[in-house]
Amino acid sequence: MNFIQTRGIDSARPATVTFSEAILAPIASFGGLYVPETLPELGHDFLEKHLNSSYKELAKDMLNRFEIDIDSEVIDEALNLYDKFDDGENPVPVVKVKENLYISELYHGPTRAFKDMALQPFGVVLSSIAQKREENYLILAATSGDTGPAALETFKNRANVQVACLYPDGGTSDVQRLQMVTEDAKNLKVIGIHGVFDDAQNALKRLLASDDFKAALKEKHVSLSAANSVNFGRIIFQIIYHIHSYLELVRQGGIIMGEKVYLNVPSGNFGNALGGYYASQMCVPVEKIIISSNENNVLTKLIKTGKYDLRDCTVVGTTSPAMDILKSSNVERILFDMFGYKRTRELMEDLENQNFYELNAEELTQLQTCFDADFCNGDEGKKYIKDTFEKDNYLMDPHTATCMKSYETCSNSTIKTIAYSTAEWTKFSPVIANALTGEEDAEDVVALESISKIASLTIPAMVKGLFSKAIAQSTIINKEDIEKEILVFI
Ligand SMILES: *Cc1c(COP(=O)(O)O)cnc(C)c1O
Repeated sequence: MNFIQTRGIDSARPATVTFSEAILAPIASFGGLYVPETLPELGHDFLEKHLNSSYKELAKDMLNRFEIDIDSEVIDEALNLYDKFDDGENPVPVVKVKENLYISELYHGPTRAFKDMALQPFGVVLSSIAQKREENYLILAATSGDTGPAALETFKNRANVQVACLYPDGGTSDVQRLQMVTEDAKNLKVIGIHGVFDDAQNALKRLLASDDFKAALKEKHVSLSAANSVNFGRIIFQIIYHIHSYLELVRQGGIIMGEKVYLNVPSGNFGNALGGYYASQMCVPVEKIIISSNENNVLTKLIKTGKYDLRDCTVVGTTSPAMDILKSSNVERILFDMFGYKRTRELMEDLENQNFYELNAEELTQLQTCFDADFCNGDEGKKYIKDTFEKDNYLMDPHTATCMKSYETCSNSTIKTIAYSTAEWTKFSPVIANALTGEEDAEDVVALESISKIASLTIPAMVKGLFSKAIAQSTIINKEDIEKEILVFI
């Protein structure tokens, strides 16, 4: 299958590209993104067929239907990484929390957050494409805390790939920072920046667009790519777990085959939600996809009013930092799917030029047939964490907690909900400890211990081990020096 472009075709790029090409250079004509030419029609038969399949069997069949230009052995190697999850047989457990509410846990991978679901297999795929072409790639990543560890973990010691990962010094949790700075593989460079996440993100965007930087890399025979979720190589792995979660609900007797469900997704860059949308178009019976946000609630406003409005809008820091995003990149793929490339280009240009676009009434109706949304602030989130723990004996992280509000405000009680849990409690322990006991500003080590006692949960060895692991990466610099530092590393 080939890939087409969300904003139409300029004359500088081919009209369609292969999956490999879309992965290596994810930005399309006029700044658009790549999307599959058509989605495979899987239908009800596919669900029936995989009712008793393992996660990997389901994944393999779904990927085959996309007919991507990746060798079968590479796909097998990529999917085998799910064996490293807590339970290789069932890497994504789905847990019943209360009547009508099920939580699909996407965080059982090596870095304890949902980024592993896609980045683990993506690392194998990208490295294999680079090897086949005998090319070397530099992957740039900017992280507020979850993408960085997951990208480093997947690319460490892989051939033909180097990673430079930028994070805001002081802007991540201790566990997240230690996950990065204790990585000691030769092909990885972790760079702390004096500044906030936006500084890291802006530096990354500047470098990705800089011809001088690309020329300097070229002299060293290195090309540039990115591992954020605009890359379709990540999205494709995020369709699978939505199908799996639905089948899991059927297996558990929570629904009968064919029954519609809500998918409730804590959203930032909209990669997870987009995977759910594609799954619903391909085979999963979905009533609506509910988009949960924190105080950075642009998506709630878009879905409720049709206005994407960034005028007078700045990112606010929250207790769910992985969702502190205003320009949610993957919404563009929804616009394309619903309204076509001309309208998508028009809307995206409005956003870039005026920080604003507005859907017409018909378009808004169409959007609302598939999506609903609400947002939850930090204090409400902490209350949901405490209440759900005390009443339902289920412990969730602050990102997952944003789903609890929209679960109450957006869903009809006769329809079951699958909400997605995107991080383990260990990654955001100070906020959770605060929610449960009221203790303020605890360090991660202290918070982990107190939660572990209250909730009788074991701290996973990989998290506990971080605190005694040697620091391998100690670069902390000003943002002006990033380019120089990366070139020295290469
Ligand atoms: C990345 C992330 C999100 C947001 O996911 P998107 O696909 O960007 O919408 C939510 N929660 C956690 C914990 C994350 O790491």
